[in-house]
Amino acid sequence: EAMTGTGGSVIRYDASLERELTQRATIAADLRRGLTAGEFHMLYQPIVELPHGRLVGVEALVRWTRADGRVVSPADFIPIAEDTGLIVDLGAWIIDTVCAQAAAWQREHGPEALRSVAVNVSARQLLDPGLPDLVAGALAGHGVPAKLLTVEITETAVFGGGRALATVHALSELGVSLALDDFGTGHSSLGLLRTCPVDAIKVDKSFVDGLGGTPQQEAIVTALTGIAETMGLRTVAEGVETAEQAQRLFELGYRYAQGFLFARPLPPSAIDAMLQQNHHIAA
Ligand code: C2E
Ligand code: MG
Ligand code: MG
Ligand code: MG
Repeated sequence: EAMTGTGGSVIRYDASLERELTQRATIAADLRRGLTAGEFHMLYQPIVELPHGRLVGVEALVRWTRADGRVVSPADFIPIAEDTGLIVDLGAWIIDTVCAQAAAWQREHGPEALRSVAVNVSARQLLDPGLPDLVAGALAGHGVPAKLLTVEITETAVFGGGRALATVHALSELGVSLALDDFGTGHSSLGLLRTCPVDAIKVDKSFVDGLGGTPQQEAIVTALTGIAETMGLRTVAEGVETAEQAQRLFELGYRYAQGFLFARPLPPSAIDAMLQQNHHIAA
């Protein structure tokens, strides 16, 4: 069956679309149940210093293991959690869990063991005016110094300005670090550096993948860290998978990297083991 949409375009009735909508509704209900049932946990992916690969920080990444054992990717459930507003409760759990873990690492390995523990917050979370208080409460509750926490935000989340930008400023005033995630893929990457009080940029994997390609692609990767450095920002390269990429990034002036070459997202115990050995991850 076909319907005529505005502008005369034909929209086909699509059984797979209906299936997807039903699936989304089911996932939304399961998400809520799963949060109460303790089906979420955090993994932590090392961020290393180049060229030696010393562990300097971690990024917390949420995982959902459903009751039937299936693991759902955050790329699949975060958008649904956002649409349904559940991200506010899930996000609160994530921030508290990450702060508790950061405190445990500090107790176990000393206050200098990690320079930063990063947590992702999505667009909807930034629209919640309660977010800065929530973060402040989690930091104070677990005794974590604000400067240890990095909040990763995306360009698209703050692009509209307004309330999201006000929240970002309030977070910055708490003393946490702010990192612009997936840098270079949004609408106004460079513009945001003027209005957003960021401390670091995370250069998106797509640029890292372009290394070794055309000279234009390398020029962009070089320019991104050049701008960041001039502005006093740290640059982290995301999604580094090969030793060649790591080597080239170092040559182009990159100091920090993250990716499967060094480590996948890992359970806290694996980070503990690395901190115990003051770990260098061989590239
Ligand atoms: P992101 O914040 O950009 O996180 C980086 C993603 O890239 C992670 O996927 C990580 O596992 C993956 N990755 C890291 N290194 C490599 C690599 O070398 N190669 C490849 N192919 N991938 C790599 P993940 O954990 O599936 O998360 C996907 C996205 O979901 C994240 O992108 C973030 O936007 C969102 N997300 C994850 N955890 C959270 C969370 O706790 N809260 C919120 N709000 N969003 C989250
Ligand atoms: Mg991130
Ligand atoms: Mg990222
Ligand atoms: Mg990314």
